[in-house]
Amino acid sequence: MSRNTEYLERGKRRIPGLTQLLSKRPDQFAPGVWPTYFSKAHGTEVWDLDGRKYTDMSISGIGANILGYCDPDVDAAVMQCVRDGNSSSLNAPEDVELAELLCDMHPWADKVRYTRSGGEAMTVAVRIVRAATGRDRIAFCGYHGWSDWYLAANLTSDESLTEHLLPGLSPLGVPKGLHGTALPFRYNKIEELKAIFDKYPGEVAAVVMEPLRNEMPEPGFLQEVKALAKAAGAVLVFDEVSAGFRLNTGGSHLLLGVEPDVAVFAKAMSNGYPMAAIIGRGEVMDAVERTFISSTYWTDRIGPVAALATIRKHQRDNVAAHLSMIGKAVQDVWTQAAAEAGLEIHVYGIHPMSHFGFDGGDAQAKMTFYVQEMLKHGILASNRFYANFAQQMTHVEQFAAATRSVFKDIARLAPQGPMGPHLTGGVSRPGFHRLN
Ligand code: PMP
Repeated sequence: MSRNTEYLERGKRRIPGLTQLLSKRPDQFAPGVWPTYFSKAHGTEVWDLDGRKYTDMSISGIGANILGYCDPDVDAAVMQCVRDGNSSSLNAPEDVELAELLCDMHPWADKVRYTRSGGEAMTVAVRIVRAATGRDRIAFCGYHGWSDWYLAANLTSDESLTEHLLPGLSPLGVPKGLHGTALPFRYNKIEELKAIFDKYPGEVAAVVMEPLRNEMPEPGFLQEVKALAKAAGAVLVFDEVSAGFRLNTGGSHLLLGVEPDVAVFAKAMSNGYPMAAIIGRGEVMDAVERTFISSTYWTDRIGPVAALATIRKHQRDNVAAHLSMIGKAVQDVWTQAAAEAGLEIHVYGIHPMSHFGFDGGDAQAKMTFYVQEMLKHGILASNRFYANFAQQMTHVEQFAAATRSVFKDIARLAPQGPMGPHLTGGVSRPGFHRLN
């Protein structure tokens, strides 16, 4: 048995769901063949437990490793921090330096709080806006993590979170008393947000949304959201956990020209070291002092040290331009390889966070076959591509040659019948399902 398989079996016995993050489960890619565990990762290369080396053209640590693995500048800062002490009875001065940097980058913001992950930071943001307004209801759009406040949307109907990135998330364990507190509307559907405000006048604490995800806002959409929120006395919260630091240094809202009252960052801001920030206008953020928000490891030093080093490099080296260049090249590879092979696919998403899917029947099996065969070419690939700064055009060329070859195989095999028999470990199952 390979060491990868052995760890998979041991992990399944001891860890319900196998991993702490749905997007790193092997059933999301290609069950039975996806390597699942890594021994080391460097630049854009990852080694599995059996010593096989892969070029990572998949999710870059689900968008966290925006500079690539073991970035030398960030890691040097972190190593120094480890040598000097990561934690003590006193606080890290980098907390202050990072707060100042974030407020300088986002001049509308006055104050900052920290957590260490995105879902946690969104939960803190929701607590703050509820405390600031004295209201309970949240109008939201998109995905915001695993917390009760968010999954409460699915107490109303299993369908509420459909079209919000992860349909069908079960609210089991979420108190039924939260029913009706999380009210979904869809991106670019301003009338759905209007309907929420009409139904609950004076009761909505905040509008919580990503300023952009897979598509750009329609002209005026974000401005209308902001105007509606303001008129209703609700706080506007932009979740920049995924959108931030992709198209520009800082929040994507800086590009889109709409300033929120609160913005939340995580993931890409610290290149794989846990860090998250909630930034906001003083009058909203000061509510923190009237509620209770406090946790030991929200004070570790590696987080802000890594964030400072990541953000400074991001700015200095114009990382965003590189991410867009690489992401566009990957989208072109998918499109051209599909055209050459005569396959129908759809490609979407902003360049730094690109996606594609096969059209027509047996689409999930075709995708699983793609992942499985790309592994044979020494490449981690999937339906999603999150660009990082360590990826170069040479990696894209390796990826292009492999993708062309696998797409041709799919075009040859698919007309002969279902792809299932060509899969070593069954069809992937994106979304939330039991593992065993
Ligand atoms: N908000 C958005 C927009 C996200 O994309 C994610 C993660 N995919 C989260 C919140 C949750 O962040 P985390 O996984 O760090 O808890």
